[in-house]
Amino acid sequence: MIQQIRKLNKKRLVSVVAGFVIGLLLLLNHFAYVVNKGKVLPNTSVNGIAVNGSIDHIYGIDSKTIELRYNDQSQKTNLKSLKISTNSKAIADEIAGSHEYIRSIALFLGKHTYALELDADHDVLKEELDKLFEISLAPTDPALSFEDGVAQVKQGAPGRVVDTDELLSKIKSASVSGELVDVPVKPIEPQANPDLNATAESVNAKLEKAVTIKSSKGNYVATKADKVSWVAFDGLAFSFDAAKILITLRQVQFVKSAKWSNINAAATQIAKDLGANKDSTVTVTDALPTALKTITYCVQLKNVNTGELAGFKSKVAQVLADSRGWSLGGKVRFAAVDSGCQFIAWLSAPNDVAAFSPTVCDNYYSCRVGNNVIINYDRWVGATDPWNAAGGSLSDYRSMVINHEVGHWLGFGHSNCPGAGTPAPVMQQQSISLQGCSFNPWPTQTELVSLANKYGL
Ligand SMILES: [Zn+2]
Repeated sequence: MIQQIRKLNKKRLVSVVAGFVIGLLLLLNHFAYVVNKGKVLPNTSVNGIAVNGSIDHIYGIDSKTIELRYNDQSQKTNLKSLKISTNSKAIADEIAGSHEYIRSIALFLGKHTYALELDADHDVLKEELDKLFEISLAPTDPALSFEDGVAQVKQGAPGRVVDTDELLSKIKSASVSGELVDVPVKPIEPQANPDLNATAESVNAKLEKAVTIKSSKGNYVATKADKVSWVAFDGLAFSFDAAKILITLRQVQFVKSAKWSNINAAATQIAKDLGANKDSTVTVTDALPTALKTITYCVQLKNVNTGELAGFKSKVAQVLADSRGWSLGGKVRFAAVDSGCQFIAWLSAPNDVAAFSPTVCDNYYSCRVGNNVIINYDRWVGATDPWNAAGGSLSDYRSMVINHEVGHWLGFGHSNCPGAGTPAPVMQQQSISLQGCSFNPWPTQTELVSLANKYGL
């Protein structure tokens, strides 16, 4: 009986003790729950860094101050400002969700590790860092430069940029620990450009080429300094600039008291030759003098098909402007006008020629009467038998007959062959007889001097 009671008491005691223990555990569990509510679990680490305190601290990682330092300057910022997103909310939610009664005691025993992940657009991050520190610097690529008359390659210099991978890794840690972050930068190497050396060598070789400018007032040989002054370059390429060459040509022209007509073409030619790595020799020609005397003339047809007018007018203008003719190399200008002219150049039907003056003209040849210079249409299209027999061209015949008849208007009479084998004076009647001379469409030197003296030119 007593034993039974003892047994019973023992059972009760066990129950009471068990009940007490369970109650105590429940109490402790509740206590642990209450104590840890809203807090980071004990033994919790994020990215290997132990964290504790309020869960709000994890929720607030986005706006937690991060101090960045670059070149002894520091700036305070946070993930949100840097436009970096994180999984901190998910971590905090997970920690908060772990505060259950049963587990809360076990919480003291286990370890709870979390990994904070950062996500950022690297370009945006770079921009944000530049706003804080102006870090980005473009590299200077190698370029050509010209020093003391020598083309050379100026080496480039590296630039720099934020190393965003490294920065994100550092910020990941600092956003938990609050440590100061030294902003990592990496260099950007300049672009290699092996072609530049070849370009520099090429222009230096071209500068050794000889440039000679020939003129009636002697030659000019360009100096090295001249040639150097013609070089144009944009950092990556060299060229010879005709506009710069023109400046030198103008200076030479000034020094020689000359006036050249083809100076632009000469500059272009020199630029082209040097560009092709060739010596350059150009001949500049003296510009025609400004006309000192102007003679006006009209062109008319007499009973000749109007279709002939343009060709006749063009040939007359060409012959009168030719430097070999009565223009005296430009001193005399023959100007075609519609009215009020000093003489009229006629292309006349053969049967109408004599009518200009029966005593001076006939219907076979051309002639001149007063201010009328008359070209016989038959001769215009067929020249004369002796001319054709001697193999003279129709074009030369036309030049000759225009010069001859205009020569009459200018005051010249007929002349004779000065000596067998010499060119006939244009005022000789070459259509009739050459007198041993050779056919010649242009005034001789003697005839030109005679006209120059007449006008005092
Ligand atoms: Zn004549």
